[in-house]
Amino acid sequence: MIIDSHVHLKHGDAAATEYTPEQIVEVMDAAGIDRSVVFAMSTTTRRSIEMARDAVERFPDRLIPYVYALPSYERPVIEELREAIAGLGFRGIKLHIGECRLREYIADPVFALVGELGVPCLIDLGGDLATGERIAAAFPQTKLIYAHFGRYLCTDATLIRSFIALADAHPNVWLDATGVVLDWTISEAVRRLGAERVIFGTDGPHPAPTLTEMARNSIRQIEMLDISEEEKAMVLGGSVAQLLGL
Ligand SMILES: [Zn+2]
Repeated sequence: MIIDSHVHLKHGDAAATEYTPEQIVEVMDAAGIDRSVVFAMSTTTRRSIEMARDAVERFPDRLIPYVYALPSYERPVIEELREAIAGLGFRGIKLHIGECRLREYIADPVFALVGELGVPCLIDLGGDLATGERIAAAFPQTKLIYAHFGRYLCTDATLIRSFIALADAHPNVWLDATGVVLDWTISEAVRRLGAERVIFGTDGPHPAPTLTEMARNSIRQIEMLDISEEEKAMVLGGSVAQLLGL
């Protein structure tokens, strides 16, 4: 089973591009993806809950919802996060360092909450290794997924290797292989951490070259790696299935 662990109902690009659940499932069908984790960003926590709930209501067997954690001046969002996970069946939390920073006095209540509730937290760290180290060490009971092996489209092999070493030192850290351009670092992570801690995703939908080809290329990237067929299957779906208890 192929599970895409990272799909945007609303992206973090300059236009905050949105995709409908129908568009997402159409790409999944064309690319051979069975299930997808979906979430919105570039919006409030409350709106991210509405968007993901609506998507999962339409495709309950295909889509898995994460809630977006973003502090608000209007109201405390921590109870909205708790209600989404404990009451509405959301399976994880998404955080992005670019929209709210991840300073301890802002974000630590979120890491404590997900640790308590036992769901993972998918975090884009924007290459901030020190913050990744701090969170992993401060919250050993919290399941952390570091997006893009630490930094989106990173060509700095030393930085990527530092994130792999971080995950090696902290068993509560998983690595999300979306937006990784140095393919060999994915193989290296599988050998060092085990395929159970390396997670496939598309970070889609993305229109180039086409919505479908982009998703197919992401699958092909894993299929072409110098790892065993069992390891490929684990990365393409088994690892996130284990992590989420699917
Ligand atoms: Zn993303």
